[in-house]
Amino acid sequence: INYQTAKFITSAPNIRKLPDDTGIEIAFAGRSNAGKSSALNTLTRQKSLARTSKTPGRTQLINVFELDTGERLIDLPGYGFAKVPMAVKEQWQLALSEYLQKRKSLKGLVVLMDIRHPFKETDQELIYWAVSCEIPVLALLTKADKLKQGARKNMVLQARQAAIAFNGDVQVEAFSSLKKIGVDKVEAKLNQWFGY
Ligand code: GDP
Repeated sequence: INYQTAKFITSAPNIRKLPDDTGIEIAFAGRSNAGKSSALNTLTRQKSLARTSKTPGRTQLINVFELDTGERLIDLPGYGFAKVPMAVKEQWQLALSEYLQKRKSLKGLVVLMDIRHPFKETDQELIYWAVSCEIPVLALLTKADKLKQGARKNMVLQARQAAIAFNGDVQVEAFSSLKKIGVDKVEAKLNQWFGY
């Protein structure tokens, strides 16, 4: 499957405005600044498919990309801004849990977390929801280049140990857009989810 063919098709203000729930899609989620846009750009070999360094608090949209074979990549808004009012947070959590529960075409969730501080509360909640909806999860420990090889391996092992607690299909891998670490792992997982 050629991720290079990914093309932006639409931005949706909310989950109800997403394209028809047909075919297969895979969603990308993570705290703001976790490296989600960079990861999408790396996966698709496009320099600016997903915008990087967004402004906190700005209206956040769901970006939809489509591959030439029709599958979709869904770029969910980053979460974890301290400044966002509680009501907005709750609304988004509700929408997100609804998406995970109801979206039939959703076959996998990629959760991006900075390797230096993975599994923050919202990350955990998200993974719990996905697992309870039987959506498989690929947890990517991003910016893996920030750690030396030994420390990186340790973090991956620790995170894999922690992931057992979710009691579901949660695969943990190190990832770096900068040093192209783990790109093959992501492609293999996505290919599997897309049914190739
Ligand atoms: P997003 O908010 O999750 O979409 O995160 P971005 O992709 O915009 O990245 C946030 C910041 O982390 C930017 O300053 C990136 O340059 C940096 N970043 C992203 N990926 C990597 C990586 O693999 N290694 C390093 N060292 N920095 C990264």
